[in-house]
Amino acid sequence: MTQKLLKRARKIVIKIGSNTLAKEDGKINYKFICDFAAQCAFLIESGKQIVLVSSGAQVAGLSTIDCWTRKTDIHYRQALCAVGQVELMDNWRTAFANFGIHIGQLLLTKEDFSDEHRTLNMRNTLFTLVDEGVVPIINENDSVSFDEIKIGDNDNLSALTAILWNADLLLLFSDIDGVYDKNPKNNPDAKLIPVVENVADLRRGISTGGVSSFGTGGIETKLEAAEKVGAYGIDMILANGSFPRALASLADGSIHGTVFIGDSHGI
Ligand code: ADP
Repeated sequence: MTQKLLKRARKIVIKIGSNTLAKEDGKINYKFICDFAAQCAFLIESGKQIVLVSSGAQVAGLSTIDCWTRKTDIHYRQALCAVGQVELMDNWRTAFANFGIHIGQLLLTKEDFSDEHRTLNMRNTLFTLVDEGVVPIINENDSVSFDEIKIGDNDNLSALTAILWNADLLLLFSDIDGVYDKNPKNNPDAKLIPVVENVADLRRGISTGGVSSFGTGGIETKLEAAEKVGAYGIDMILANGSFPRALASLADGSIHGTVFIGDSHGI
């Protein structure tokens, strides 16, 4: 089913989690970024349009200024994101440049989505970039956000982006193969759920505790994202981004993940 969804989707928002972008030593995984850009370039060549939502600013910041590792103060955290965001985008820029593709950065906050004018501007910018063959890369503006005005996680940010851009499909890459009946990290007998038609029913039937080492929202924010886009009839796939050539493998059907079917249609 994942293969079918990817085949028929033209406009795809792809979110990559911090854990997928970081190596075990906590440094940004540039090889992953290059491989991922190659797979995006292939999909774009085949007629797809792609918007990326990339986490990883803090991870990239810590790799750059590692003496700030112990600075937990909010000002340092936000300063770290300012440093890391540049590094992160530099990695994406050079990776996509190998394929002659430009990237454009959008740093957004929750307020941007509640202001009519800003929303319209963001939408127009996204459409213009994509129409011109540029890959927009979005992240939350962590250097200016604070708790009260934060979206807080890129799962929800990518869902809001998918709705704003009228995407056909939202693809979340995490460090797990999909949604399980319980956290697979602590429960080797956890069972993967391949298709979800109703998120509220799913939530009642599974346990959702725990996040990965660099993760923020855990599985709960992925379910929130599925509910948000589902209400607009947008399908969502949660899959394992650490699988080699994950995007290409989903497209050719060799890996699957969990499919969340959007409300307004069946498959
Ligand atoms: P990311 O950085 O990719 O957004 P997170 O760490 O925020 O990832 O969320 C994914 C984590 O959610 C998994 O690594 C897993 O440990 C945890 N998790 C908790 N409950 C579940 C569940 N029922 N199914 C799958 N993953 C779960």
